[in-house]
Amino acid sequence: MDMGKDCGARRVGRAGLFGILAAVLTCTGGSTASADEARKLNVVTTVGMVTDIVRVVAGEHAEVVGIIGEGVDPHLYRASRNDVAKLQDADVIFYSGLLLEGRMSDTLVRMARGGRKVFAVTEGIDAKRLIEPEGADGHPDPHVWMDVSLWSRAVETVAEALSSCDEANAAAYRANASRYRGELAELDSYVKKVIASIPTRQRVLVTAHDAFGYFGRAYGIEVRGIQGISTESEAGVADINRLVAFLVERDISAVFVESSVAEKNVRALVEGAAARGRTVRIGGTLLSDAMGASGTYEGTYIGMIDHNATLIARALGGEAPERGWRGKLAEQKDR
Ligand SMILES: [Zn+2]
Repeated sequence: MDMGKDCGARRVGRAGLFGILAAVLTCTGGSTASADEARKLNVVTTVGMVTDIVRVVAGEHAEVVGIIGEGVDPHLYRASRNDVAKLQDADVIFYSGLLLEGRMSDTLVRMARGGRKVFAVTEGIDAKRLIEPEGADGHPDPHVWMDVSLWSRAVETVAEALSSCDEANAAAYRANASRYRGELAELDSYVKKVIASIPTRQRVLVTAHDAFGYFGRAYGIEVRGIQGISTESEAGVADINRLVAFLVERDISAVFVESSVAEKNVRALVEGAAARGRTVRIGGTLLSDAMGASGTYEGTYIGMIDHNATLIARALGGEAPERGWRGKLAEQKDR
């Protein structure tokens, strides 16, 4: 495969250009970039969950820029002109795939055809482990990061892809991935434990859209979304009424909003239940398709999953430490 050679050749070109810029800076008395910095891979990613695992695996060997930010819905996101420029300049591009970034597909395909190295981090996941929802025309559910063991496989794919583009640092990429996957295995156990602590009858997760199918399967909690797998589909009055009846029948005490989806449908559930004499509260805001603020613990993949699992367990009567898996979650009144 000539992928490695190709990436290598392009990196030499970038390093050469950087060398010229550094020389100019020297003349004006500015600081110079080291040769190491000049050789860093320029990596562009889509959603935060992908950005974070690529940063962890790349470590100091790449500059990683994510283009879909905090609280932004990837199903509806269109690449801006500025994003396209970043993608065009990238040595390597990572996206989640399985049509999560539905409106960016054309752009990503064009980049791949134009010679960019474009990888879907979900491509190494065994197709048998993907959920195929009814009526989805054979399109698997893209929300695979909700099952930590599946996302751990994506970490391996990132390590292999970076290694193929930058053989000189392959050992570092593999070591970073291996260390991180060990941490993810521990996180996976924590999520299993706290979700299992929810009383059986309350072990139902009702959210704004169907982002938690993998979470439900991996951790043993029934899931219901008001909107479908993609937020492209609008929920109707009948969907809301059906869920209200379900909440009342099962005596479910809390439902959840999501940071990247409008709250109005979830509020309609709460009001619908109230009209039938039941109090259902909003258990908090889950991080479904976007992570928390960058620079915070919740703005990392591990923090996102910890936040969700801890919030869900506590809101539904289970047992979980207030500040989560390793005491790093921000204080929140909902938790
Ligand atoms: Zn989604």
